[in-house]
Parts: sequence; structure tokens; C-alpha cells
Amino acid sequence: MQAIQTVGIIGAGTMGNGIAQACATCGINVVMVDISQAAVDKGLATVSSSLDRLIKKEKITADDKAAALAGITVATDYAALAGAQLVIEAATENEELKIKILQQLDAMLPKETLIASNTSSISITKLAAATQRASQFIGMHFFNPVPMMTLVEIIRGLQTSDATHEAVKTLAETLGKTPITVKNAPGFVVNRILVPMINEAFFVLAEGLATPEDIDAGMKLGCNHPIGPLALADMIGLDICLAVMNVYVAEYNDGKYRPCPLLKEMVAAGYLGRKTGRGVYTY
Ligand code: NAD
Repeated sequence: MQAIQTVGIIGAGTMGNGIAQACATCGINVVMVDISQAAVDKGLATVSSSLDRLIKKEKITADDKAAALAGITVATDYAALAGAQLVIEAATENEELKIKILQQLDAMLPKETLIASNTSSISITKLAAATQRASQFIGMHFFNPVPMMTLVEIIRGLQTSDATHEAVKTLAETLGKTPITVKNAPGFVVNRILVPMINEAFFVLAEGLATPEDIDAGMKLGCNHPIGPLALADMIGLDICLAVMNVYVAEYNDGKYRPCPLLKEMVAAGYLGRKTGRGVYTY
């Protein structure tokens, strides 16, 4: 299989531009596509200011920044992706939209091109099946902020070939990331463990066992977590946490995933966390 030298990225949002930066700073060419010129310009501007912060911290030089930016091409037409060996789909988390995008890509990309999705919650096996190249399809789940976070969960769908897995794993390592390989299942590995833990923190809070501050301090100091579960819920968004628990309820049909009623109440009230100025804490 051809080494991956050019990566196409669908979506110039939070994850798309982060993946673009991670690739470009490691010498991988990038073609980043979004639906409008404004969206790709915004994505590129985000990369530029993120690189400026790295210059300020003396992690990279102005020349490194220029080289990275020179390696990123932006476009609003999928035709620009024709030269990529791998296209990573990082568009809005919506199954119908992703399937539509993947079918468009499948129809126009050379037959040897690999496709990956950065989805957090949609079945990789199901997305693969929407293409005519299911063995060349894989999950590549980066973490936010991509340039800082070293983990990549590589999710093998039922159809994913060993060659596809190897190529994507090698790319993740080239980006200086640590890949872990995971079988396709709701939540993959990290969110399967993390979100039920956050849900449990809401049960502990609802039962009045401790204050939010003490629950978070307990997990920070007792488990060496860099942030407490309730503060993390506020960062992720309580609505997202609830939606993930609801996926587990639907997919695993196991009572252990019951969403905490307090979490549901807070979402119903619009207390979604940092993004609404109020979650467990007030911002
Ligand atoms: P975002 O909303 O910041 O960006 C999504 C981008 O996709 C937008 O710029 C949008 O214009 C673009 N888009 C929509 N339809 C498109 C199309 N047809 N063609 C090209 N571009 C299109 O979202 P995000 O946070 O970057 O999330 C992207 C993906 O990454 C989602 O699947 C999400 O679940 C996953 N993810 C997000 C995080 C996170 O913390 N934000 C972490 C891991 C994975």
C-alpha cells in the first residue's frame, strides 16, 4: 500500500482544522474541504493562530509555521481531494450527513484511496457499509484539542482490512500520536469508560454524598485525574454526555447505563455547561 503523504480532510471545524495542523506540522500535505469559503478560511485562521501560540512558547519557529501553512490547501470542492491517499471525514456529527458525504467521496476518489471517519459515536461498520470500499474504511478518533492530545483511537469496522489498519496506524505514529486499536462498539474504549463515570458522578451529586467541588477534588487527588468529572461534564456539554448515555441504553440494553435523572433535569433546564454559562458550575 502507498505511504500516506497527502491527507484530505472533510470539515474545517474544531477537529478538522486540528487534524490539519497535526498533519502539516509533521510534513504531511493537507487538503481541507468544507462547504463554504468562509468555513475553510476560518479553519485556516484557527491553525494560523494556534501555530502563533506555539511560536510564542518557543515550541516552533516562524519558518516552521510558514512551512506548515504552505502544506495546507483549502477547497470547497471534493475534486481537490483526488491526490490524497487518505481522506479523513470530520464533518458535523450526523449519521445521514456522514453517509451522504461518504457516498460522494466513494464515487469520486480513486479506488485505492482509504477513507477514515473521526466520528465519536456512529458505528464504523455501518459507515463502511455505505461505501463500496468497506475494507479500506476505518475509524480514526482524534481527541480535542488535536495538536495537544496524543491519543488516537483507531477503530476497526468488521470489514476493515489489516493493510488499512497498518497504514492508518503508521500515519498516527508519524503525527507523533499514540494509537490504540479498538473493535467497533458504541463509545469505542475511552468514551465507553469516561461517560458512565461522569454519569455516576451525577448520581453521587444527586444523592447528596458530597458537594460538586469535593466530588471533583476527590477524583483529581484520589485518582490523579487532571480535572474532576463534573467540571469535565461542563466542558464536554451535559447534553452530549446525556446523548452518549442514551446511545448506550439503546445499543447495549443494559440498565447499568441508565442516565442519572439529575443529568436529564439539568439538560432539560438548558444547563448544558460552559457553553451556556451554567452547568454544574456557573461561568
Ligand atoms: P464542528 O461543528 O466544529 O465542525 C464540523 C464542520 O463540518 C463544519 O465546519 C461544517 O461546515 C463542516 N461540514 C458540514 N457538512 C459538510 C459537508 N457536506 N462537507 C464538508 N464539510 C462539512 O464539529 P467538530 O467538533 O469538529 O466535530 C467533527 C467530528 O469530529 C464529529 O464527527 C465529532 O463527533 C467528532 N469529534 C469531535 C470532538 C470534539 O471534541 N469536538 C472530539 C472527537 C471527535
